[in-house]
Amino acid sequence: MHPWISDRADSFDSSGIRRVFDLAANLKDPINLSIGQPDFDVPGEVKQAAIEAIESGKNAYSPTQGIGPLRERLQQQVGEQYPNHGDRDVFVSSGTSGGLMLSMLSMINPGDEVIYLDPFFVMYPALVQMCGGVPVPVDSYPDFRLDPAKIEAAITPQTKMILLNSPANPTGVTAAADDLKQVAELAAEKNIALVSDEIYSNFHYDDEFVSPATYNDQTIVIDGFSKSHAMTGWRVGYVHGPSEVMSAMLKLQQYSFVCAPQPAQWGAIRAMEVSLDGYLEDYRRKRDLLVTGLSDCYDVVKPGGAFYVFPKAPAASGAAFVEDAISRGLLIIPGNIFSHRDSHFRISFAAPDETLHRGIELLRELAKK
Ligand code: PMP
Repeated sequence: MHPWISDRADSFDSSGIRRVFDLAANLKDPINLSIGQPDFDVPGEVKQAAIEAIESGKNAYSPTQGIGPLRERLQQQVGEQYPNHGDRDVFVSSGTSGGLMLSMLSMINPGDEVIYLDPFFVMYPALVQMCGGVPVPVDSYPDFRLDPAKIEAAITPQTKMILLNSPANPTGVTAAADDLKQVAELAAEKNIALVSDEIYSNFHYDDEFVSPATYNDQTIVIDGFSKSHAMTGWRVGYVHGPSEVMSAMLKLQQYSFVCAPQPAQWGAIRAMEVSLDGYLEDYRRKRDLLVTGLSDCYDVVKPGGAFYVFPKAPAASGAAFVEDAISRGLLIIPGNIFSHRDSHFRISFAAPDETLHRGIELLRELAKK
C-alpha cells in the first residue's frame, strides 16, 4: 500500500464491483441488466429549466441549505405529508449519497453501531466505517422482509442508528406498513436514530408507499431526484427531520459539499411538477415481464418496488454464476457485493424491453445447464 493512504481508505475495498466492470469492458454488445438508474432520460422540461438557469447566470454557490424556491417547495410538500410533525426541517443535499454521508458524520461516534438489513446498498457499511462506526447487518434471507423481531434482537447498548431502505436496493423488496410501524416505534422507545433512505419511494408498484416517519416523528428521511427523474449525474437530494439534527448536518455540508449544484436545483423545482405515472406504469410492466419470465426456473422474490430483482443463483456461488453469465454476454451483479452471502445476483429491469427479453432467454438457458 502507498504510504500516504489512510487506514480509513484502506479499511474497505471495492474490488468486487471493479472486477465485474473489468469483465464487462471486454464485451461487444452486452445484454446490460446491471444499471442502477432509469433507462429514460431526464424529462425535457427539467433539462430546459436547468439550461435557463445556466444561461441567466444562476451559476454561483447556492445557500448551504439549497435555493429558496426549491427548499420552500420541499418544505411545503413535507408539511403536507407530515402535518403533525411540529419540528421537521428540510434541506437540499448533494444527492442522496451526500445526505447519507452527512447523516453518518453528524450522528455516528467511533464505536457506535448502525443496524441495517443484509442485503444492503453497497455504500452503507463503507459510510458507517468511514465514521468509525460499527456496521451491524441483519440477515434478511430468504424473503428479505424487514422483520421487527430480528431488528430488536440486534440492538445493543451501543446501537445508535437503524438505517432503513424501502423499496430496497438490491432486492426491490418493500417493507410492510406494520413492520415499519413496529421498527419505528422500537427506535422511538429505545431513543435510537431512525434514518430512512427513500430514494426509490416513487417506484412502488403494488400499494401506496409508506415511510417510517409516519410512525416516528423523529425519523430522518433522505430522498432525491436521481432515480425518480433519471438525474443521477445532477446530484440533487434532500433530507428532512428534527431541526437540531438538520442544523448539525448543514454545518457539515457547509464545510464539505458546500451545496448541491445550483443549475440542477432549478431543474429539480421543475421536476417536482412532472408526472411520473407513465414511467411507473412502464416499470411495473417491466417488473412483471422479468418476474414472469424467471419464476419457473429461479427462486425469486417478487419485488414491490425499485427496479431490481434478486434471484438465487442456480449454482453454489453467485459470483461464479455471474462470471459465467458475463462470459456469455449478460451483465448482472453478484450478490456478494451487497451481502455477506454469495448465493444470489442482482438484475436491473431499468432496461429496454428488447434487452429484457434477451436477458430472460439467456438466464433460462443458464438455469437449465
Ligand atoms: N441509496 C440507494 C439505496 C441507492 O440505490 C442509491 C443509488 N444507487 C443511492 C442511495 C444514491 O443516490 P444518489 O444518486 O442520489 O446519491
